Amino acid sequence: MPIFHPDLAARPVPRYTSYPTAAQFHPGVTAADQARALAAVQPDDPIALYLHIPFCRQICWYCGCNTGVAASDRMRRYEKALRNEIATVASLCRGRVTAINFGGGSPNALAAPVLARIIAALRQHFAVADDVEIAMELDPRAIAPGDAGVLAAAGVNRISLGVQTFAPHVQKLINRIQPYAMIADAVEQFRAAGISAINFDLMYGLPGQSVVDLTETIDQAITLAPARVAVFGYAHMPSAIPRQRMILDLDLPGPAARFAMSNAANRRFRDAGYAAIGFDHFARPDDSLALAAASATLIRNFQGYATQAGTALIGLGATAISQFPGLIIQNEKHLAGWEALANAGQLAGTRGVAVSADDATRAAVIEALLCTGRAEVPDHLAGAMAALAPHAARGLVHVHGRQVQLTADGWPYARLIASTFDAHLHAPQRHSSAV
Ligand code: SF4
Repeated sequence: MPIFHPDLAARPVPRYTSYPTAAQFHPGVTAADQARALAAVQPDDPIALYLHIPFCRQICWYCGCNTGVAASDRMRRYEKALRNEIATVASLCRGRVTAINFGGGSPNALAAPVLARIIAALRQHFAVADDVEIAMELDPRAIAPGDAGVLAAAGVNRISLGVQTFAPHVQKLINRIQPYAMIADAVEQFRAAGISAINFDLMYGLPGQSVVDLTETIDQAITLAPARVAVFGYAHMPSAIPRQRMILDLDLPGPAARFAMSNAANRRFRDAGYAAIGFDHFARPDDSLALAAASATLIRNFQGYATQAGTALIGLGATAISQFPGLIIQNEKHLAGWEALANAGQLAGTRGVAVSADDATRAAVIEALLCTGRAEVPDHLAGAMAALAPHAARGLVHVHGRQVQLTADGWPYARLIASTFDAHLHAPQRHSSAV
């Protein structure tokens, strides 16, 4: 059982869904850089698309996403602008789409037929592979009768349900009421429609949540046999995220309780036959994420752990982030500004970061540590290895020459250990605690 080190667990570190992280983005990176990066994608290069839908039917108080409740005319305008952006970006990029992810927000704040039209637009403008994976995050509270059939017919073949917790008193404190029966019904509807790849998102560290609440939620989740589960730690940053001020500090579990929850999740899912993936995911052994982990092809990008290492990840929609070799760029954050650019047929990237050769090397080491637990450190980063000594002394990591390997006790601290290779971490920035 991993040991709780309070000085390490509470330390703020990035989630490393990219390196450099979003904290390094600046407005010196522009749509001209985005155009060059799109043009460099070769015909038939595999690419992934991410579509950001920044709307929800109701706001959860823990949520750190860029989202809001919107009237139907706003969502109609969003669909129109998104279709225009799809046409513009596709005209500049010759890659072959092997993965499409819808996130947000809650994509199903838009009606299922609207989502089906957006998927049809993607197929019209991009070269989409026959075996493309189309994955969509869904708010179970916003699933309407018939949605499963419409989305399955449009080609959606993986869904991710925001479950978070089944404990009623915790649901009340986070403003997200959704009984077990609602989730079970959603699972049944999508399975009946032919979508068997069903992911759950769970959370620990929520207000009022105990270890028992979490293990009971996990046991209930396991009865529904999700293919994958992510168990995220709640990041409480009310000074940066005003809606989190609805959550009282005194209701939050402390660092020791958070650590116990993270460990309990790991034990529970492994005992149930799930493979532990990285530091916060679990997958049934036959799921593609577990297969990617077993074959050392797992990657980490803005969606977290993923299986499709394409040449580029192209973000569409307000705030969406694109990752190219040598460039990370984010679309305009403000809805009206993004809509204006998209409707004018212009690229919408307005800030980002150029990835230097040094960044790329560090990114590879960080990604390897977070995906496989081990990394070969190149010569020019040897200086960073000295900072691993305190972690090695605590039995969290083994260091042999240039080889670094997390131990079983080290996995909960994986992000912190990976941050040893982050050259930008000294800059002022806000991050969640390491565990
Ligand atoms: S439904 Fe999801 S995206 Fe929307 S507020 Fe809740 S957690 Fe955030």
